[in-house]
Amino acid sequence: MTKSKKIKSAELVSEWSDIFRCPHCGTKMQVEAWKSLTCVHHHTFDFTKQGYLNLMKQPIKSNYDKTLFEARQHVVGETELFQLLHQRISEILSRLNKETITILDVGCGEGSHLHQIMEGRLDRSLVGIGLDIAKEGILQAAKNYIDPIWVVGNLANAPFQKNVFDVVINILSPSNYVEFKRLVASNGLIIKVVPRNNYLSELREVLMKSEKREMNNKDEVVSLFQDHFETTKRIPLTYRHKLNQTVLQDLVRMTPLAWSADPKRIQSFTEQESAEITIDLDILIGRNN
Ligand SMILES: [Zn+2]
Repeated sequence: MTKSKKIKSAELVSEWSDIFRCPHCGTKMQVEAWKSLTCVHHHTFDFTKQGYLNLMKQPIKSNYDKTLFEARQHVVGETELFQLLHQRISEILSRLNKETITILDVGCGEGSHLHQIMEGRLDRSLVGIGLDIAKEGILQAAKNYIDPIWVVGNLANAPFQKNVFDVVINILSPSNYVEFKRLVASNGLIIKVVPRNNYLSELREVLMKSEKREMNNKDEVVSLFQDHFETTKRIPLTYRHKLNQTVLQDLVRMTPLAWSADPKRIQSFTEQESAEITIDLDILIGRNN
């Protein structure tokens, strides 16, 4: 009989249970009866049928729904739009001088970035954990990708012990630098991906009024990152990739900006047979002292 996703996940988590911390009382946790993760004070969290863990103290309603995460999975997981980004990050990981690398993706959504990065590993063994506050995202991640450990959790009170990750990645998603510093090992890396001015410019041009088009908070994001970590590198990554009509439609669905935009303008974008789309990002690499 093949093992269920729930059992497989419980086995993997049990190997790495030292990483976890009870969101209620902060104590250590362990897997019990291949069924749940439990702390010293018996706060208990069951593995779901799909294999993920929900370690929220109480549920939080997210604006991001199934449609958005499905669209993201198509675009990020099934096209080559972000392939170069994934390759760059895999290369950075492969240069780390460790046999096994523990990596946390904060704000992983439906997990496609983390999955692709882990697929690209060279000769290194990676243990991946994806964390997101949106249950819909983690549910989909667990359905699609078995390898990483998927956790619904709050970044402001991340359910992990201090200094347990060799690498924390944070791709196009909000940060909590105090928590990042707590989570990443001493000398470990924080890899944050932020948009530059022309990121998805073709889409933003049709969605936004011209004066708003610029990504105006970019420099602030970079300098805030540099305030917290010794920034060892800033790698700009700019390229264009052609997408067909179906993928253009998914790109709109995965972009919250588009939800309040004029439907006619969106239609003009999604009616194109194909379009070149610009990826324009900064990869910031910081070291935890
Ligand atoms: Zn507890």
